[in-house]
Amino acid sequence: MSNWQEMEKKYLFTNTVRWPILPVNGKGSYLWDENGKKYLDLVGGWAVCCLGHSHPVITKALTLQSKTLGMCGPQSCNMPQLQLAELLVKISCLNRVFFSNSGAEANEGAVKLARRYGALKLNGAYEVITAYNSFHGRTLAMTAATGQAHYQEAYKPLDVGFKNVTFNDIEAIKKATTKDTCAVMLEPVQGEGGVNIPGEGYLKAVRQWCDEKGILLILDEVQTGIGRTGTMFGYQQFGIEPDIMTLAKCMGGGIPIGAFLAKEHCAVFQPGDHGSTYGGNPLMCATSMAVLEYVIEHDIPGKSQKAGAYFMEGLNKLKSKYSFITEVRGRGLLIAVEFNKDMSGAIKLACIENGMTINDVKSNAVRIMPPLTISNKEIDEALAILDKVFGEVKV
Ligand SMILES: *Cc1c(COP(=O)(O)O)cnc(C)c1O
Repeated sequence: MSNWQEMEKKYLFTNTVRWPILPVNGKGSYLWDENGKKYLDLVGGWAVCCLGHSHPVITKALTLQSKTLGMCGPQSCNMPQLQLAELLVKISCLNRVFFSNSGAEANEGAVKLARRYGALKLNGAYEVITAYNSFHGRTLAMTAATGQAHYQEAYKPLDVGFKNVTFNDIEAIKKATTKDTCAVMLEPVQGEGGVNIPGEGYLKAVRQWCDEKGILLILDEVQTGIGRTGTMFGYQQFGIEPDIMTLAKCMGGGIPIGAFLAKEHCAVFQPGDHGSTYGGNPLMCATSMAVLEYVIEHDIPGKSQKAGAYFMEGLNKLKSKYSFITEVRGRGLLIAVEFNKDMSGAIKLACIENGMTINDVKSNAVRIMPPLTISNKEIDEALAILDKVFGEVKV
């Protein structure tokens, strides 16, 4: 056995609460630790591994592209980048694409574009309205955008230009809108905030308000995009279209890539306005392309929708069995189970004991965000482990 825990203590910052296990291997919906113990993985690389672990499509694309052109820099186009942009435009309601390396960077770019729009078309408006319980990433600006005090406290003063308001409350957005507002930025379903699904009509009302005021609607689809919530993009379930949308996570299926997309009317960047050294590199773009082609060809969003419904049905049965479960909610394979006590940490550790990973998204809720390729048999296995853990947990 390795001394990984000593190495962790000695060499890494203590910024992350990490699992007490060291994954060394992954295949499909499963992980293995260094002792060979197998875990059904309901976390999926943090809602990233849409095709599961070690998918051959990803291995093949990475290998092939790395043998020709892996990196060329932002001073030139490359064919994988152009093809990936063409595909994203074809399957979405947006017209232009900028590639980044992560979700936070995609959001940074989206907000920069909105500020550019504000400068050029809204008399210098620069403020972006975001929601409480949102999550937009860990950069300094996105820490201000993210409406959760515990991400913000240690980093004050926060970047100016963001106003956090109550999610799912159109009046709160209306009240916060001033002549300085250039955009509203929301997740269609809040992920890190606890899988919060907006009420009927909320996003439509936000869209209408943005149109009325001439401001932009940015949807952060870093977690909801590419099939996670049962459609290719989350916005498709709410009868609206964003002006700007950001992606990452499932877009790469496990490799670092993100993007923001915009409609033509707000694609106002001028030469030199934004850039990234690694963004749009051929190695990641070719791999993301292979992932997306697989996702489309095998109707992974449809599979996610069906698997999510099957999972929720089983979780609701557990809810009627265990009175401490107060709610099961989700869309596709983005699901939360909420409890009447702060017991999610204990549930997470008990699941690991029993060979399964799960995310304690809030102190009183666990989140399920497995590979979108998870089978009904694997879901049955997950439900059986949860049944055992719920039956044994001391509350
Ligand atoms: C994960 C996430 C981010 C941040 O993505 P990183 O790749 O970690 O920078 C931003 N927005 C949402 C909605 C996310 O779920």
